[in-house]
Amino acid sequence: MDKELTFEDLGLSDEIMRALGSMGVKRPTTVQQKAIPPMMDNLSVIAKAPTGTGKTFAFAIPIMEYLNMDMKSVQGLILAPTRELALQIASEIRLLGKNIKGFRVAAVIGGQSINVQKERLDKHPQIVVATPGRLIDLVTRKMIDISNIYTLVLDEADEMLKMGFIKDIKRIIGMTPDDKQMALFSATMPREIQDITWQFMEGAVEIDVMPKAEDHPDIDEYFVNCPEKDKITVITRIIAKEDYTKVIVFCNTKDQASKVAMRLSNAGLSVQVLHGDIGQGRRNKVMEDYRRNRFDCLVGTDVIARGIDVDDIEAVFNYDIPQENELYLHRIGRTARAGKSGAAYSLISYREQPRFEEIIRYTKADPKEYPI
Ligand code: ADP
Ligand code: MG
Repeated sequence: MDKELTFEDLGLSDEIMRALGSMGVKRPTTVQQKAIPPMMDNLSVIAKAPTGTGKTFAFAIPIMEYLNMDMKSVQGLILAPTRELALQIASEIRLLGKNIKGFRVAAVIGGQSINVQKERLDKHPQIVVATPGRLIDLVTRKMIDISNIYTLVLDEADEMLKMGFIKDIKRIIGMTPDDKQMALFSATMPREIQDITWQFMEGAVEIDVMPKAEDHPDIDEYFVNCPEKDKITVITRIIAKEDYTKVIVFCNTKDQASKVAMRLSNAGLSVQVLHGDIGQGRRNKVMEDYRRNRFDCLVGTDVIARGIDVDDIEAVFNYDIPQENELYLHRIGRTARAGKSGAAYSLISYREQPRFEEIIRYTKADPKEYPI
C-alpha cells in the first residue's frame, strides 16, 4: 500500500489548512490523497469513488489553491445533478474559503429567481456551482461567461446521466476552453460516462477508490422481515426503543413517501416529507429545519439520498427496498457521517426478499436481524 499522505504532505496553503482545522478535518480521505496531487499539477482526473468518501474537498481544494484573485471571470465551474447537492457543495466551499480574502462562491440552480442569481454573479464569484439546465439558461442570457474557466468539475456524473443531463453537459463542455482542466467524479462508470471521458478527457489520471473501512462510515446494518402493513409499527417501535431523534425514512416513490409520512405522523412522530415534486423554497426550509432538529423524522425518495450532508443523522430506514443496489449504499451513507456512527434498518416484505438478498451480495454487507 502507498504511504498515507497528510494534508501537510499535500502542501496546502495556510488559509485552507486553518479552514480544515476549524471544520475538524484532520486527515485526507483516500480519494483526497489520490486526486489532490494530480489536480494541483493541473492534470485532469477521472475518479470513481463511492459516496461519502470526501469528494467535495478532493476537487474543491485544488481549485481554491490556484485561484487568481485579480481575475473577474469565473475560474472554477462545478456541475452537480440536484439543487440540494449544488447548495451543499457551495456551502462547503464557502467554509473552506472563509480565510481567503475576497473569495466568493455562488450556486446557480433551477427554481431560484434569475434576478437573485444575477445579483450573485455580478459580485464576480471565482467558483460557481450549478445544475446543468439553469447554467445553460444563464449562459444563453449572457449572465455568466464560462469561456475562461480553468477547471470544470462534473460531480456525481452518473447521477447527472440518470437525470437526463448528458446533452446539457456536452454542450457546457463545448462552451468552456479546450485547454481547461477537467475532473469527473462518479460512483459508477456507465457507458455514457465513459464516452465523455474518452471524448473530452484524453490523458486524464484515473483513480478508482474502493469502499474502504476508514473511508466507509461506521454503520450497523439491520433488517426486519415484516409484512408491508406492519412497517409503520416496526419503525415507530425501533425509534422508541433506540431513542432516536433524527432519522431518515426512504421510500421508492413520491406517493409512497407522502403516504408513509402521513402514517408516521399519525403514529405520533414529528415528520416532514421531501420528494421531487416539492418546490425549492419548501425543500430548503425542510432541510434547514432538519439540520436544526426542529423535527425528528424526514421521509423521502432517493432525490434526497445523494449528497445531502447532515452530520448527525442517527438512523436510516429503508421502508421500501431500493430498486438499484447502488441506491442502498447511497441511502445508508446518509448516516455515520463525519466520523460518527449510525444504523441502517431495512424492512423487508416477503416480495422484497430476493431484491434484498441481491443487495447484500452486491454490497458485501452482513446485516443482522433486528429483534423486534
Ligand atoms: P462524497 O461527495 O464523496 O459523498 P463529501 O465530500 O460530501 O463526500 O464528504 C462527506 C462528509 O465527510 C462531509 O461531511 C465532509 O465534511 C466530511 N469529510 C470530507 N473529507 C473529510 C476528511 N478528510 N476528514 C473528515 N471528514 C471529512
Ligand atoms: Mg459528493
